[in-house]
Amino acid sequence: MFGLLVSLSATPGEGLMNFLRRTATANYLTLTDLVDHIRSTCEPELNIFPTPPSPSTWRSAYEHLISNTTNKTWSCLQPKFCTSCLSEHGQFMECWDLTLNTVCTSHKILLENRCLSCGSLFNLQTIESKMCVHCGMSILKSGARSHSVSQEALWLCCEFEKRLMGVSSDGFRSIDQLDTLDLHCIAMCLADLGCNFDNIHAKKRNNLHQLENVYQMTSMAGRLLSDWPVSFHSYLQKLDARVITSRRNSAARFVDRFRVNIYERLASPAFDFVRSELEKHHPPPNCAPGTIKHRPNVPLELTEMMPLKAISKATNINVQLLKRLIAEGELHGYRGFSACGNRTIVADLKQARRLAAALTSRLNVMQTANHLKLPISTIEVLCRNDFFICLGGRPAAGQSWWIDATSFDMSNASIKRQRSVESTISLRDILQHPLMSEDCVAALFRAIQKGVLSVSIIGKTGMGIVGEWRLGNDEWHAWISMRISDTTIVTA
Ligand SMILES: [Zn+2]
Ligand SMILES: [Zn+2]
Repeated sequence: MFGLLVSLSATPGEGLMNFLRRTATANYLTLTDLVDHIRSTCEPELNIFPTPPSPSTWRSAYEHLISNTTNKTWSCLQPKFCTSCLSEHGQFMECWDLTLNTVCTSHKILLENRCLSCGSLFNLQTIESKMCVHCGMSILKSGARSHSVSQEALWLCCEFEKRLMGVSSDGFRSIDQLDTLDLHCIAMCLADLGCNFDNIHAKKRNNLHQLENVYQMTSMAGRLLSDWPVSFHSYLQKLDARVITSRRNSAARFVDRFRVNIYERLASPAFDFVRSELEKHHPPPNCAPGTIKHRPNVPLELTEMMPLKAISKATNINVQLLKRLIAEGELHGYRGFSACGNRTIVADLKQARRLAAALTSRLNVMQTANHLKLPISTIEVLCRNDFFICLGGRPAAGQSWWIDATSFDMSNASIKRQRSVESTISLRDILQHPLMSEDCVAALFRAIQKGVLSVSIIGKTGMGIVGEWRLGNDEWHAWISMRISDTTIVTA
């Protein structure tokens, strides 16, 4: 295996990285050298693990390991573990590598992913040496820290473990039929829905380092899955209530994004039970099977819900942007039935036409930069930090922003009209200051919005051209030196 002399076989419940560590040791290699070797040979067909005795999930973990993708199922490269279990059995368990598995089911405590003494995150070398690579403290010493965990989180982690250990389920529910990876997949999806609803900003992109945040997701997914579908429906009900109240947009956005997720990304029939509960809750209006099918001659204008492709043709908005608008809750849409009875995403044509009209007033980054006379990089920072209202929210890679250039909030800003040019400095000069990192630019514009830094606006109406704003010299210097001293304190 891996072109090495000594091959070992897996022990029950063992994690892939633990197996690789043992294999490396048996071949007088370091774990990191072995991982590098595997990555460089990068065998595309994953037949390197003899089936059985290797766990079938290793293929997926292996794929994650060699492809270096942002696969959220595994966290092999940022290991977390129960120090008590590790001291007792000396083995890194496979279940600890599942991203959402944050709890030790035997000790009922939170797993650890950073050194108790110096706080640095564990990595591959930690697995190899069983000590913190930064401060040298042994990871086997069980810490005094023991976070008690919720029943729901414990339940979910037990479910993961049962499946990974090959304990066959005796239940007949659809959830009992899901394999480890499918269960993890739906758990991620539900955790996202629930955490968003509770405003727990746990799921930051690629930010799976914060074990406490991931634990919130474990707990949430456990809550929604353990009494399926009772809590799920009560969450959807709470979301409905929110849709008709003030938080309409964000709530609708969560439901729609969830809908797109479970229809688009979780297409496997194994997840039909989630779809059927969702449809019980929100029966698709005008779009029951056959509604469109039996009215083939109705002109497009009279039917509201249309497949995205047709809407794209009629409105000239590309399909990707339409999907984004649905995910952001700005366009009503969901997975329904097309004219030929196929499942497809449908959306409200009339609403899409209105959005298409609004789109013409939206600018991309370059147009906004020209319009506001600011550098493109500044506009990008402003977009990323939510200074503008952007149609369709944040774009995926390769797509453009649809920026409302007038949406920069100046309601609390302090605007001064009578100031001499000498006592002020132009915003454009400030942006060229060597310390203007992305964080600093965002902080600067926030300070302007809060009125901490006053601006002189050239021109008679409104906020004028941002690129022509001038800031008070003294205020600006006081602000930037404050920031510099703050940063020095943090890094010191
Ligand atoms: Zn344990
Ligand atoms: Zn340490």
